[in-house]
Amino acid sequence: MLIDPAMDFDWTEEQAALRSSVIAFARAELAHDVVAGDAAGAFPRAAWDACGRFGIQGLPIPEVFGGQGADALTTIGALEALGYGCPDNGLLFAINAHLWSCAMPLLTFGSDAQKRRYLPGLSDGSLIGVQAMTEADAGSDSSAITTTATRQGERYLLRGAKTFITNAPIADVFLVFVVTGGKGIARTSAFLVDRDTPGLTIGPPLAKMGLRTAPLGEIALAECDVPASARLGEEGDGGAIFLSSMEWERAGILAGAIGTMERQVEQCIDYARTRRQFGQPIGDFQAVSHTIVDMKLRLETARLLLYRTAWRKSQGRPARLDASLTKLHLSECFVQSSIDALQLHGGHGYLTDNEIERDVRDAIAGRIYSGTSEMQRNIAARILGL
Ligand SMILES: Cc1cc2nc3c(=O)[nH]c(=O)nc-3n(C[C@H](O)[C@H](O)[C@H](O)COP(=O)(O)OP(=O)(O)OC[C@H]3O[C@@H](n4cnc5c(N)ncnc54)[C@H](O)[C@@H]3O)c2cc1C
Repeated sequence: MLIDPAMDFDWTEEQAALRSSVIAFARAELAHDVVAGDAAGAFPRAAWDACGRFGIQGLPIPEVFGGQGADALTTIGALEALGYGCPDNGLLFAINAHLWSCAMPLLTFGSDAQKRRYLPGLSDGSLIGVQAMTEADAGSDSSAITTTATRQGERYLLRGAKTFITNAPIADVFLVFVVTGGKGIARTSAFLVDRDTPGLTIGPPLAKMGLRTAPLGEIALAECDVPASARLGEEGDGGAIFLSSMEWERAGILAGAIGTMERQVEQCIDYARTRRQFGQPIGDFQAVSHTIVDMKLRLETARLLLYRTAWRKSQGRPARLDASLTKLHLSECFVQSSIDALQLHGGHGYLTDNEIERDVRDAIAGRIYSGTSEMQRNIAARILGL
């Protein structure tokens, strides 16, 4: 049979209760002034800390390491709810980068000592994590990185520079990818570098188009001296660690955008019913109502893809293709729905204070970070045997 008759789309009672409590928490405690934060490029640390206390950063981390022990589907459902309740896409992005590209690789590849040292702080938000792969001449082609780690007895010296690193200006722990020798996928390794490590310099936040409440920065590593115990996994594990963390990240990083898209649809319906032109609500014009239907269709198809990928991750099934398709589709849907919402609100939508144009600026980044849309198509084509 082609379709599984037992297919179940219901959240369990616990999952539904968690989603409701996340929305209530976000509305009550994440009501900071995002317009001002966006204009100033200010990271909302108090909101981050509130998320940590609530348990957001620790959702998929086992309880023994200070987290909530939620599976992938429950985690992603909760992050969707967070996006619905909280309009600060930058905060959502900072949390997701921390979670998928630092905490999850640590959980998957870390030694017991590394997990005990870092995961409780990463789970409660008292530590902020980042992943540093991209370099000036190695973006889409991550195999071209030139930052090195040279072993000297029980220590390594790291030399090089990284750019476009989410959370770098505010981070406590950096998961840095470097060349250690070897060939192909075994050429790189990953190291956990603490903020105060001698030789690590962190640049100021880079000004950018959107996601301005999530600081982005550069780091330089000059004879940066770390113990061998800071290496994540074995020498040569860098490629495997990066692939694993990208699969998690591409599966989950845009969950919050589904919540945002749901809010956009509701807001557009409201506006289309109340804004009148030519003596009637603009929603009576088919051009307007069809735009909203297309937004709804995009939301629902993107949501189904997200849930299926999250479900596969929960089952421990391979999800590389699903994760790439999810990241590609959700990011493109988020851009289009944000543009549609702005257009539908006319001049009102173009004004910064009305908090509609910001979604367009925030959404565009989704087509670039975590591998561009073009690269997701390349990955999917390769997996399809092309
Ligand atoms: C908001 C934001 C946050 C980020 N956070 C992090 C982070 O935390 N850590 C980190 O390490 N990096 C981070 N990055 C970097 C991000 O991963 C890279 O920007 C991305 O991989 C693209 O690399 P690039 O910018 O060098 O573009 P390039 O690789 O130079 O690409 C330029 C253009 O060429 C296209 N292109 C390149 N190669 C191909 C190809 N083979 N086929 C088709 N088209 C191709 C690209 O799609 C793109 O359109 C972040 C970037 C942004 C914008």
